[in-house]
Amino acid sequence: MTAKTGPYDGPGGLGRFQTELTAWLDENDAFFPRRAAGMSLAGEVARSRANQHRLWQAGWLRHGWPESVGGMGGSRLFRAAVTEEAARRGLYYDTLAAVGEVLGPTVIEAAPDLARRYITPFLDGTEGWCQGFSEPEAGSDLASLRCRAVDAGDHWVVDGQKLWTSYAQFASRMVLLARTGTTEDRHRGITALLVDMGSPGMTVRPLHGINDMAEFSETFFDSVRVPKDRVIGEVNGGWSVAMRMLRSERGGIFWMLSAWLLEELERLAGTAGLTAADDEAVGRLFATVAALRARSWTTQHRLAADGIETPETSIDKILMATAEQELFDLVRTSLDGVLEFADTDEAVWLRSSYMYSRAASVYGGTAEIQRNIVADQLLGLRGA
Ligand SMILES: Cc1cc2nc3c(=O)[nH]c(=O)nc-3n(C[C@H](O)[C@H](O)[C@H](O)COP(=O)(O)OP(=O)(O)OC[C@H]3O[C@@H](n4cnc5c(N)ncnc54)[C@H](O)[C@@H]3O)c2cc1C
Repeated sequence: MTAKTGPYDGPGGLGRFQTELTAWLDENDAFFPRRAAGMSLAGEVARSRANQHRLWQAGWLRHGWPESVGGMGGSRLFRAAVTEEAARRGLYYDTLAAVGEVLGPTVIEAAPDLARRYITPFLDGTEGWCQGFSEPEAGSDLASLRCRAVDAGDHWVVDGQKLWTSYAQFASRMVLLARTGTTEDRHRGITALLVDMGSPGMTVRPLHGINDMAEFSETFFDSVRVPKDRVIGEVNGGWSVAMRMLRSERGGIFWMLSAWLLEELERLAGTAGLTAADDEAVGRLFATVAALRARSWTTQHRLAADGIETPETSIDKILMATAEQELFDLVRTSLDGVLEFADTDEAVWLRSSYMYSRAASVYGGTAEIQRNIVADQLLGLRGA
């Protein structure tokens, strides 16, 4: 596999990049293994990371990341183009790839020294990171989190618990939100730390999901020492770090995920099980996904110009969850009984995807919370 990267600055550069990327992927397709039937989650994570690494080594995935962390610079739109194409072709495990896009840009921006030291293996697929935000009593109400980091001179001591930490069992580091002020300080008393997984006192306990995968975990901290210089941003400034990451989670990753949705929809539309009675529903769904794609491409441009605030991305999050759930609802009703009872590889995959689609209105902030944000912060309806 030969690396091929050209200069893509200036007008028409992104289009040229996409054309050359597509041609290169067509030519090198055999070097990228796809998901195999019955593959374990660990196997799938390893396969996905290896493919990510191939794209990085070939240069494609380095476009859009700054040179300080091994990238080639340029607009984040290059990253959007690569992850879109990778999702379309099934090269990545999409939700795993999304973690890089959620955490990476903010760590580079808020903690450039930490990024220079640690982030390249994460971006190039060699190692995984995870996001330690949610707790048993702090999901929607994230500002009430209680996992505590105490200043002990040259290090922090962390005690507490995180919940729903995706891919924690496969991760080398965690972006942790910890309380460094009082609980009454709410969002003003939170600090973001970069923690090494496997530090003494840390326990990761995977949770089995309804889709038959143990994708997320409970993570426990019992007097875990974290070096003092692992603060991302400012001490007690973790809330703005978290909001920047949520901006990516609710907006940045959906160009890639909507490409995957479109692919699934096109596959469904070509399925023999569909009848003329399904035409209207399929057509409506194409319109929903097209609306999501149109919104998302605008969001990618606005993110590239740092011209979109976190609350605005709640609209993208609502559109994505709606489209994903409507798609798999249609799969379920139109392929009568297949999703519930069949045992073919395809049926198992569709069943798992249907189950996972229920989580689309929960992860990254629930649908109700996104609607509250739109009503409150964008439309000013509080108390109206
Ligand atoms: C697949 C998946 C992956 C995840 N990965 C991660 C991860 O990697 N890291 C991480 O930190 N977290 C992760 N999460 C957790 C996710 O962020 C939380 O589940 C989410 O924020 C909701 O919090 P909760 O589960 O505590 O629900 P709760 O906050 O307890 O909410 C329960 C219900 O009450 C509703 N509700 C709560 N407050 C209000 C309100 N004010 N107005 C209206 N309705 C309200 C909610 O909408 C919901 O329906 C993941 C979740 C999923 C499903």
